[in-house]
Amino acid sequence: MIATVTLPAFSSTPLSRSLLDNLESLGYHHMTEIQAQTLPLILAGKDVIGQGKTGSGKTAAFSLGLLHNLNVKRFRVQALVVCPTRELADQVAVEIRKLARAIHNIKVLALCGGAPMGPQIGSLEHGAHIIVGTPGRIEEHLRKGRLSLDEVNTFVLDEADRMLEMGFEEPLQYIIDHCPAQRQNLLFSATYPPKIEQLAQHVMHNPQKITVESTH
Ligand code: ADP
Ligand code: MG
Repeated sequence: MIATVTLPAFSSTPLSRSLLDNLESLGYHHMTEIQAQTLPLILAGKDVIGQGKTGSGKTAAFSLGLLHNLNVKRFRVQALVVCPTRELADQVAVEIRKLARAIHNIKVLALCGGAPMGPQIGSLEHGAHIIVGTPGRIEEHLRKGRLSLDEVNTFVLDEADRMLEMGFEEPLQYIIDHCPAQRQNLLFSATYPPKIEQLAQHVMHNPQKITVESTH
C-alpha cells in the first residue's frame, strides 16, 4: 500500500470564515508543507523566517498572515510587502487580491520601480490597506512624504536572498526606519546565505525559523 501524507486543511487554522470559504473556492484545500509549518506561527503573531523552494507556496503563507491582521474599516497602510523585482511584486499583488476577494473594499497597491510615477502618486492620494513594491520606489515615495508607514502591523520581506544579491540594503534600512517598532516581521527566501541571517537579526524579533525541503 502506498502511504499518502495528508497535510492539514486551512480550516484547522484560526483564519476567518470568509477567508476560508474563499480558499475553498480557489481550490486551496490543504496547506502546502511550508504553509502548514509557518501559518500557525504567523497567525499566532510570531516573527517567522520561512525558507522553501520556488513554487512551495510561500506567498499565500505570508499573505494570509497579513490579511488576518488587517482591519479593512481602517483605511491606512497596515501591511507592507517588499520584493526584489517588479515582476515578483506584481505577482504577489495578484495573489493577495485573489486571497482577499472575500474582503470588500480592500485596496492593494503595487509600487514598483520602472512603472510610471503619475498613477502611483494618484493611487497613494486615494490610499491603500496593503502596499507591495520594490525597495527603491517605496523609499522614494516615503522621502517625498507621499506614503506613511506609521500604521504598518505586518512587514514582509519576500525573496530576501535576491533582495540582498541586488544590493537593496540601504533602501530597506530607510523603509524599516519608517515602520513602527512594534510590528510582525515575516521573511521568506528560497536560500539562506549568511547575509540573510544578519539581516534577520537586525529586522526581526526572536524569529522562528522554518526550513522546508519539499515543493508542495
Ligand atoms: P513560492 O513563493 O514559494 O515560489 P508561490 O507562492 O508562488 O510559491 O506558489 C506557487 C503556486 O502554488 C501558485 O500558483 C499558488 O497559487 C499555488 N498554491 C499555493 N498554495 C496553495 C495551496 N495550499 N493549494 C493549492 N495551490 C496553492
Ligand atoms: Mg515567492
